[in-house]
Amino acid sequence: MFGYWGKLLRVNLTNQTYKVEEIPEVTLKKFLGGAALGAKVLLEETAPNVEPLSPENKVIFAVGPLQAVSFPGNGKWSVITKGPLTGTYLDSAGTGHWAPYLKKAGYDLLVIEGKAEKPVYLYINDDVVEIKDATQLWGQDTVSTSQMIKEELGDRRINALNIGPAGENLSPVACITCDGHSFAGRGGAGAVMGSKNLKAVAVWGTKQVPVHDKEKASEISKKLFKSAYENGKYFREHGTACAIVPLNELGDVPVKYWRDDVWTEGSAKIGAPRYTEYLKAKPKPCINCPLGCHRHVHFEYDGEKKEANGPEYETLGMMGASLLVEDLDAICMANDLCNKNGVDTVSTGAFIGFLMECYELGWLTKEQIGDLELKWGDGDVLVELTRQIINMEGLGKLFKNGIRGAAAEIGHEAEKIIVEVKGLDYPAHDPRATFGVAVNYATSPRGACHERGNVHAGSLGLYYPELQDAPADRFSVDQAAQAAYLHQSISTFYNTLTFCKFMIGDGGITLSELCEGLEAITGWKLEAKDLFRVGEAAFTLQRLINVRDGLDRKDDSLPEKMKMAALVGPRAGEAPTPHEKILDDYYKLRGWNEKGVPTAEKLKELELEEYVSFIPAK
Ligand code: SF4
Repeated sequence: MFGYWGKLLRVNLTNQTYKVEEIPEVTLKKFLGGAALGAKVLLEETAPNVEPLSPENKVIFAVGPLQAVSFPGNGKWSVITKGPLTGTYLDSAGTGHWAPYLKKAGYDLLVIEGKAEKPVYLYINDDVVEIKDATQLWGQDTVSTSQMIKEELGDRRINALNIGPAGENLSPVACITCDGHSFAGRGGAGAVMGSKNLKAVAVWGTKQVPVHDKEKASEISKKLFKSAYENGKYFREHGTACAIVPLNELGDVPVKYWRDDVWTEGSAKIGAPRYTEYLKAKPKPCINCPLGCHRHVHFEYDGEKKEANGPEYETLGMMGASLLVEDLDAICMANDLCNKNGVDTVSTGAFIGFLMECYELGWLTKEQIGDLELKWGDGDVLVELTRQIINMEGLGKLFKNGIRGAAAEIGHEAEKIIVEVKGLDYPAHDPRATFGVAVNYATSPRGACHERGNVHAGSLGLYYPELQDAPADRFSVDQAAQAAYLHQSISTFYNTLTFCKFMIGDGGITLSELCEGLEAITGWKLEAKDLFRVGEAAFTLQRLINVRDGLDRKDDSLPEKMKMAALVGPRAGEAPTPHEKILDDYYKLRGWNEKGVPTAEKLKELELEEYVSFIPAK
């Protein structure tokens, strides 16, 4: 076996025990790693509707074959669990410097079960696995936690995935962080760690995974580092902030919690190049990254000069454009509060937009808002509400069960104005600008998610020449399902391979080049269509977890606001409707029945026949 150890490390926090189990090569060949392998374990080992914050839930960390060598974009890892925001399947991915060291320690997969009696952290150092006391770390923010673990272990090279106070307090939007600048942000995986009293997972490893053709792998890797570095010059200079202005020109950026259509002056103020100049932003790359999209920024808030990890596109979209906030200092402050406390900036921005709209409609009581005026565009209100959401106090208490819980508590017609799927708030891409995004958000197994199918990138010209002739027409109802099917399967493949998607779009690496690299590492001959198939199988397995939890077509919804076309601007007159027709097209492509349930025939076609018994009887 090449590119893998074929090893699963299983840790039980209740019994304080661990064991190493074999993963057969046939399993690795079928599932590759990451979000596919994790979904397999979750489906097989947890009961339907397991309570996400109970000891019976599992939290699974997974990497793939690329972590066997120094390969561009291999700093990625996946975490797979049942999420507290949606109550069903969740996988989330982060980057940083952690993933290759889990591999070097000798493992492809880490499964954590049970619940520790008191706060602990896990320390994996090659064959030594220790469950260590984390009492002194409990209450520390994500950056201090990393530093304190490095000091305690006496080695600054050791990286620890960890949670902040939000995860400890079981916030449904708590994330897991790596190195203070990368986050498995969406869906509340941080709360699952918190529910297990698990503060961090520190790893260090020194082993070399066997590689099929080491010389060839090294040659391909060097070639791809060079080409991604050359192709990614503008991206490296400005990070993901470079997308704000061009996407606003397409009508893709969320404006005023999805009620307005364009925000041209504001976009120029928060997007690149002003972002880079004003914040003196510099790249802060993950391990093995020729692009370095993460930012280190300088800003000033409340008279205090600060340096921190900078906001990315999604944060600028949800805390800037969606709230009409042009104040980059305030956005950086809110972003930094979320990062240090370990909270998803996308859902936090969505919650604040929702509150501002409710305030405007007179749906919040004086008792709820106190003296705060929830004005659109006010950076100080953004920062204050971010604090309240993080601490689950004041208006933040409304979100203890996410946006659906808040809408139910506020009453009036609040449930009609929220913009989410399965309980997960929309990220910062508007489906009215690219119709395939609507069905992608509707059907993503973890709820509305751009990372499980970046169809919007097609509107900027991204396409896969090995699999399609050209990008889909963004306003075509007839092409929407196909665009979602393609991009979802490929994006799910990236999360299965645990590979940074920016290497493809912005670094210009092709699927064929990825296949060459994979062959040199694993010895397996693969083509682009095989990568698509792996992604499709993983996506189907994740959908099976959804349907086993009782979800189906009724949960693949399109929020009311998305049915309303803009009157002016770049997407005037356009809306991704009729949604039901697009869903029908999509289910046919996926081989699901009219209720959105994968069929036995499709499972067999994808070589997932062992999961046919998981299909609900009705
Ligand atoms: S492109 Fe960005 S997210 Fe991807 S590996 Fe590089 S710094 Fe990390």
